Amino acid sequence: MTQGSRPAWPTRPVIVAGNWKMNTTPLDASLLANDIADATGVPGVTRVICPPVVCLESVSRALADTDVEVGVQNIHAQPFGAYTGEVSAPMVNMLARWAIIGHSERRRDQAETDEQIGRKLLRCAEFGLRPILCVGEHLDQREAGRAEETVRRQLERIMSMVEGAAARAPDDLVIAYEPVWAIGTGRTARGSDAAQMAQIIRRELAQHGVPNDAMHVPVLYGGSVTSSSIEEFLAEPDIDGALVGGASLKVDEMAGIVARAGLTAAARGSI
Ligand code: PEP
Repeated sequence: MTQGSRPAWPTRPVIVAGNWKMNTTPLDASLLANDIADATGVPGVTRVICPPVVCLESVSRALADTDVEVGVQNIHAQPFGAYTGEVSAPMVNMLARWAIIGHSERRRDQAETDEQIGRKLLRCAEFGLRPILCVGEHLDQREAGRAEETVRRQLERIMSMVEGAAARAPDDLVIAYEPVWAIGTGRTARGSDAAQMAQIIRRELAQHGVPNDAMHVPVLYGGSVTSSSIEEFLAEPDIDGALVGGASLKVDEMAGIVARAGLTAAARGSI
């Protein structure tokens, strides 16, 4: 970089999304959402809160006068039908702008497959939800040197569902690289490993007909991110933000994470 010139940052947005998982009730969710919105008003950072589905309405109402966006933690692969207890994209698309798709806790607990996840991606495109698609390897896969292969195969299977279908992948796709061994464990990946995986992810997407140039797809890191650990990830130009679990329930933590994300946004010239 020559002195005085701007760094060659990518033009991708900086995004911090909070996944509240199975925490909060409609009443306390709206209070928490308000407090987080107030504490995180940093220019240039896209903020998303993903509460439990029963809290979508109260959180949407609480955030109506803010630019904090709302996401759902999951949608079903079908729009309607005999699927007791499930929630589909057309049911939530008035309440949520975003959808987390393929979270590892759903792969683990509901045995979600890449094929189902691919169909969910199609539903997002069909019903106007912006997907945060989660991919990531287990610890034994990383230790066996198969982290890259695992993530590439997940994407290959998911994107092949999209390529083969009449509806195309959403052109506003966001990927969350979430090594499974780092989720809720207090362990984090190294920033450099996450950045390397982000490059692999974009290369894989480029081979699978992503509507926009894969270089424009934001890649977030997720896995025990806190206000102390976020620095390492956002220092990497290939990482565009974070999907935050446990720490997203704490106002001070979210304030710290978004404040650091604001520095990245400013450095990229996106404000
Ligand atoms: C997540 O749920 O996506 C996540 C990353 O959780 P945690 O930050 O708690 O590890």
